[in-house]
Amino acid sequence: MTSRLDRSASWPYDAAGEPGSFAYARDAHPNAVAVEEAIGALEGGRSLLYSAGMGAVTGVVLAILPPQGTIAIAAGAYFGHSQLLEHLRPRGVNAVEYDQTGPPPADADLILIEAPSNPMLTMPDFAAAAAHPAPVICDATLSSPLRLLPLELGCDISLHSATKVLAGHNDLIAGVATVRDDTLYDRLFRTRMLTGLVASPDTSWLVGRGLETLEVRLDRMEATAQTLFPQIAAHEAVTVARYPGFGFLISFDVAEGGAARRVETATETIVNATSLGGTHSKLESRYRWEGERCPEGLLRLSVGLESAETLWADLEQALARA
Ligand code: PLP
Repeated sequence: MTSRLDRSASWPYDAAGEPGSFAYARDAHPNAVAVEEAIGALEGGRSLLYSAGMGAVTGVVLAILPPQGTIAIAAGAYFGHSQLLEHLRPRGVNAVEYDQTGPPPADADLILIEAPSNPMLTMPDFAAAAAHPAPVICDATLSSPLRLLPLELGCDISLHSATKVLAGHNDLIAGVATVRDDTLYDRLFRTRMLTGLVASPDTSWLVGRGLETLEVRLDRMEATAQTLFPQIAAHEAVTVARYPGFGFLISFDVAEGGAARRVETATETIVNATSLGGTHSKLESRYRWEGERCPEGLLRLSVGLESAETLWADLEQALARA
């Protein structure tokens, strides 16, 4: 991975007047390419870096969903995806939600699963999705390529919000898509280039730096989450607790009627803010954003690098307000 930051918007043509490896940064630039090679090696495919996780899904949908096509998306998965697709409905995008633990709807032209889903933490039926004739996109943001390789499981596109654990420090917005098929890669590359959805050099450089510590961060966050989960699940104020057994994200429910708000505003070490996968633990009620899509008492905890003891002490005193 390169450690040099190159902010050039364009590079000189060669002596014969021909473009070299890099010509204009909206097409490609050295810092994005370095990160794409690193993530591509982890994922077992060819990666493209985007300006946001949402940029990645936008670029993919624009590139491969046919006009008036139907995209089947996992219910209980990332809220932003369903919002984006609803926003695009007047442009001929027909989104339908389905239970990703079973087969996708037969008439889908494109499938978007999430492994695990945020915040309901279900895992998709990969075999059922892969058996469907439509291309399958898997958002594996909560797993990272160190825990799950969607391309090995029959998906066509692996997607991540690199904002989260890949970069890991809550200081940038970026996304990445990885594919094996060269024709698909070319189509995504051209769409990204024409829409201007590439991540900036500075952002790419920071993603690359985050990747260098991904393994140690994830190991630590996951071990802490595995310690905390049974403690949370056994707490008297908690009615339901969800954890897929790996990763850094836990969601749990407290009573309806304001308990979630009281708990999230009572934490001291854990930051009451949105987002996940960073070095600092974060807790938020998702009902404020998602409304009826999730239980009113649902709290989403992204476990960071603090010790399990510190986090449990903070959670316990906050849960006492539920
Ligand atoms: N996918 C998942 C699972 C997410 O949690 C998010 C953001 O929270 C996104 C995609 C969108 O990523 P970004 O905020 O980088 O656009």
